[in-house]
Amino acid sequence: MDLLEKCRAYVQADEARDAGRYPYYPAFQGPADGGKAILEGVEVCMLGSNNYRALNVSPQVIGAVQDAIALYGTSATGSRLLSGNLDLHEELEADLADFFGYEAALVFATGYMTNLGVVSALVGRGDVVYLDDKAHASLIDGSQLATASGAVVRWFGHNNPDDLARQLAATPTQSVLVATDGVSTVEGELAPVAELVAVCEEYGATLLVDDAHGVGVLGRGRGVIEQAGMQGRVPLMTLSFSTSLASQGGAVLADAKTIDFLRHTSRPQIYSAGLSPADTAAAHAALREIRRRAGSEPDALAAAEHLRRALDALGYDVGGSSSPVIPVRFPDQIAMLSAQSILIDHGVYTNAVLPPACEGYQLRIACTDAHTPYALEGVIGVFASLREDLLPRYRQAA
Ligand code: PMP
Repeated sequence: MDLLEKCRAYVQADEARDAGRYPYYPAFQGPADGGKAILEGVEVCMLGSNNYRALNVSPQVIGAVQDAIALYGTSATGSRLLSGNLDLHEELEADLADFFGYEAALVFATGYMTNLGVVSALVGRGDVVYLDDKAHASLIDGSQLATASGAVVRWFGHNNPDDLARQLAATPTQSVLVATDGVSTVEGELAPVAELVAVCEEYGATLLVDDAHGVGVLGRGRGVIEQAGMQGRVPLMTLSFSTSLASQGGAVLADAKTIDFLRHTSRPQIYSAGLSPADTAAAHAALREIRRRAGSEPDALAAAEHLRRALDALGYDVGGSSSPVIPVRFPDQIAMLSAQSILIDHGVYTNAVLPPACEGYQLRIACTDAHTPYALEGVIGVFASLREDLLPRYRQAA
């Protein structure tokens, strides 16, 4: 059979388009600021980004990018191993290690590649990786890659250290990696880092926390590990620059020997070009800003708390997160997709998330430092009429 037959037979996206409920690849025409965006020529309140600190429009970050391009041009021009390593990368790595309290750091081209490259390089024949049930796709894919070199992948219940402990107790002595998100991407819940550390230390397992959604926001900017008081107790931490660091890229933090091993063995690091000068400079400038603001609580947290309480009071099922991310659960796919498109029509952009990225049907809301109380009042008003009037009417008509 023709290999591309499956593409011609793929109808799901067309069906959603025909029903007017296709939620993906909206083309934004630029951010007005970190809390707004322009969609089809109309300004919307942007509640669907990971731009928690709104640093993508910071004059310091933009200025650093302009300086880097003027000096280094637009590309790293090759793999860091051979010709694409810049002093900019090494300066960023030194500051990341210093800020997060690790001996060393290694910068990758994306957060996804960081997890892929770390897990697949560290785990192989004779090793087991235990993944949290809701671990990010990049940790799952890194583990899948590791199975090609003989690793075994197992799962433990989401944020359930007791389940992990039970399974580790039953595992004969093997070298074990335990990997989890620090803050779950869709639900916004915090991982029980202290409990996971205790279990891993008891059973001699190595813990990796991917704190893509905690850095810059929680723990005075240092993330969920610092918030849990576990600095120095989590051997591997990964992060993405595409969230609070307002850029592209990612990094792993660990002891110096582990980082040196990864520099020379991690295939996504070796066989892909270094992060561009602009992205490296943006992440570094954003890190400096986060460090400078470490004394005050990010506005994104207060905004999310306010919005979560208001949506809860309106009768929405919003779970119990304590991060800038709020899941809003709907009974079925049609209700969720209809809600998303009605919200857009009323100037509010949220993310539609379907299985397997989450259980059930959820809109994912994420607040940033740029969401003013005034903007949030408008959003709450739209959610109030969505529940009382718009969605019931829409469903009757459907
Ligand atoms: N880890 C987690 C938990 C994520 O949510 C994401 C995506 N935001 C990534 C890793 C991948 O990050 P990036 O966008 O830098 O590839």
